[in-house]
Amino acid sequence: MFAELDVGGLKVRIPFVCRMCGECCRRLSKVIYDPRLDRIYMEDLDFEYFEGIEEYRDFQHPIKVTCPFLRDNRCTIYKIRPRSCREFPLLTGDLGVDCPALRSFKKFLDAFNPDKVIYSLDDDVDPIAIPGIFFELFKSLNPTKDELDAFLRLNRVEKSLNFLTLTKFKGP
Ligand code: SF4
Ligand code: SF4
Repeated sequence: MFAELDVGGLKVRIPFVCRMCGECCRRLSKVIYDPRLDRIYMEDLDFEYFEGIEEYRDFQHPIKVTCPFLRDNRCTIYKIRPRSCREFPLLTGDLGVDCPALRSFKKFLDAFNPDKVIYSLDDDVDPIAIPGIFFELFKSLNPTKDELDAFLRLNRVEKSLNFLTLTKFKGP
């Protein structure tokens, strides 16, 4: 997941890097296990999920239940996780979870003060050219090592853009 920012006509990508704390999967999961039927109901993959919710009105509300696929704070079905999991929290907001990764991500966005932001859920992209000043700004915001690595996978510092930047971007 990342955001592509337009800053004074130049682009830079800011990564969202999950800290694997598992809080969202403990508090917001739309995946539930019904022990009475020994059955898992999952948004997207099992449409009976919705019927199940109607049928078991007395069943504990799903958003309070730890997802049965969470093990050691990791999603064991990551590649086929439901849509709501894929979109959290960039497209949904953190819905009160106080996601530490989103806090960090918002700090980066605020510092760049973009004119326009486009969100992407797909990280499998070629890097874009950015001026060195964007890299320096990102580093000055104390990213974690994972965030810095992700930034360098999404962006490639291009010297020829530095002169252009001086006239368009005033920096931090
Ligand atoms: S709350 Fe945020 S950091 Fe924690 S697992 Fe969920 S997305 Fe990742
Ligand atoms: S399916 Fe995976 S990402 Fe979604 S709530 Fe469960 S453990 Fe978390």
